[in-house]
Amino acid sequence: MKIGVLAVQGAFIEHEKMLAKLGVESFEIRQASDLEQSYDGLILPGGESTVMGKLLHSLNLFEPLKEKITSGMPVLATCAGLILLAEHLSNDEAVHFGTLPVTVKRNAYGRQLGSFYTEENFKGLGKIPMTFIRAPYIEQVGEGVEVLATVDDNIVAARYHNQIALSFHPELDESTAIHKLFLSLI
Ligand code: GLN
Repeated sequence: MKIGVLAVQGAFIEHEKMLAKLGVESFEIRQASDLEQSYDGLILPGGESTVMGKLLHSLNLFEPLKEKITSGMPVLATCAGLILLAEHLSNDEAVHFGTLPVTVKRNAYGRQLGSFYTEENFKGLGKIPMTFIRAPYIEQVGEGVEVLATVDDNIVAARYHNQIALSFHPELDESTAIHKLFLSLI
């Protein structure tokens, strides 16, 4: 099993460390030629979605990755990754991959003071740690989207077929539960 981690910007190293901890091979996706190898899953990390969106296009990664996602490759998207997948953003004109039928609010907790830690229930996993950093949340879900976790009535995790998307950063905490859940889709 091999996982591609989008590594053009943001918190990708922490995902790679988490996968190494679980004994799973990963590689960094930095340019189109990185996608020539075969792989089984994709991680879209946190960072700055506007910057990542631009780099995806300028590095010619956008189309091949979108094709992987729409053809069913398991994807774990965290924070800015959730924004990249969202079909609609309520406070931004941009749409990136647009493969996840949800409406997402960027910087939903405020830009600077919007970072916090909590522990909440995640469907099927029980209480898990959740670290939020200038996080988005999901305001609305479309048909077929399963809500996996809420914090203060806001949706912070959802699944749609092969796509798992989170507002928070599981790669920054000790728990490996989310990454194991993602790997179980493969
Ligand atoms: N605020 C960032 C954005 O809108 C997301 C923050 C994060 O990934 N930690 O892209």
